[in-house]
Amino acid sequence: MMDRDRIQGIGMTSQRTRERLVRHLGDRGIRDARVLNVMRYTPRHLFVDEALSSRAYEDTALPIGFGQTISQPWVVARMTEELIRDWNPSKVLEIGTGSGYQAAVLAELVDQVYTIERVRGLYERCRNLFRQLDRHNIHQRLGDGADGWPSAAPFDAILLTAASERVPDALVAQLRDGGRLVAPVGGQGESQMLEVMERRPDGTLARQSLSAVAFVPMREGTE
Ligand code: SAH
Repeated sequence: MMDRDRIQGIGMTSQRTRERLVRHLGDRGIRDARVLNVMRYTPRHLFVDEALSSRAYEDTALPIGFGQTISQPWVVARMTEELIRDWNPSKVLEIGTGSGYQAAVLAELVDQVYTIERVRGLYERCRNLFRQLDRHNIHQRLGDGADGWPSAAPFDAILLTAASERVPDALVAQLRDGGRLVAPVGGQGESQMLEVMERRPDGTLARQSLSAVAFVPMREGTE
């Protein structure tokens, strides 16, 4: 198949199938036209295993190998919407590159995306994919996201796509004043809450809970 056909998709990966997903997201309360539009044109089927590509535009999380999952589209939309609500963050850090889908969505909406993944296999797969898709404003690193990316800090916004009981201090320190952090907070298998936080000038966080979510846990080190 030509590269262009593969990216644009056919059949169950076609534009019509994506339209249906976007309508569903709207029905489920996603309002931001910028977010809906990017999700309309981002080829999610390229971010999942080929055997699962026919399910890529269903609103479900799917396995991506290494015991990890690509987030449910509604969750990606919700987090992205919250991250860019009423402003245009320019430099964003994502923890948990995974399939690369969330990073690819962000890359259409902000100037620079920095993303960290701890599993080498996923990191390498994304490197090829981002190159193929010409997402040259995505900067990737293999490492423990709890350390953040000090040389690129401060960030306007930080997005965690793996759950932790507590947002790591290093990440709060790398958020600029007035910057925004969106994260699933909670343990594994317990109830996790999607929270949005804003860093006040004194370094403390103003926090707000959005909705119950189920993310894979944040783990230490790399593999
Ligand atoms: N944003 C991803 C979601 C992937 S699931 C997507 O759009 O597909 C969460 C990812 O976080 C997994 O790939 C997991 O390996 C990664 N992860 C977990 N703990 C991490 C850590 N400490 N640092 C970096 N990545 C981590």
